[in-house]
Amino acid sequence: MSTAQKSTTTRKRKTKFIPAEGTTVTCYICNKEMEKTEATEFDGKFLCSDCLEDETFICSDCEEREWNDDNAGDSETPLCQSCYSVRNLKTL
Ligand SMILES: [Zn+2]
Ligand SMILES: [Zn+2]
Repeated sequence: MSTAQKSTTTRKRKTKFIPAEGTTVTCYICNKEMEKTEATEFDGKFLCSDCLEDETFICSDCEEREWNDDNAGDSETPLCQSCYSVRNLKTL
C-alpha cells in the first residue's frame, strides 16, 4: 500500500520549457500555480515545495510524510500517530 517515494531533488534546467495546458496544478495551501512536475502530490492534494516543508513532516521512524497536525512527536523527532503509539508501547 505504501509507496516509498524518495524526494526528488529540484534540478534547474536551462532549456526552455513551455508548459502545455493541463500540466500546471495549484498548491492546495497557498494556491500558487506550478508545473505538475514541481508539485508534490500528498494526501491527494498538490503542494508546492514551500508548503510541503511548512505543512508536512517526515516521520522519524517510518519515513512516511504526514501533515504537521498529525505530528505526535515533537519538532526534533516528528512521529506519525502509529509510530508514536509503537514507541509508547516500547517504553511502557
Ligand atoms: Zn504552496
Ligand atoms: Zn511513522
